[in-house]
Amino acid sequence: MARRKGICKVCGKEYLVCITATRYPGVFYWQDVACCPECGREYLRQVEEARASTKTNNTNG
Ligand SMILES: [Zn+2]
Repeated sequence: MARRKGICKVCGKEYLVCITATRYPGVFYWQDVACCPECGREYLRQVEEARASTKTNNTNG
């Protein structure tokens, strides 16, 4: 089984990433960025927050 070491982008913890064969384009895998699903969710929240703060002039809602 292929594995690589990663650093959680949320809590900074080292973790092992299992590289599985099944990967779908456009799908978010928390294992790519975080050590656990909770940190993955937190990472997504931060990304959305950053995205929202850069888009202040969008009135096409
Ligand atoms: Zn973490």
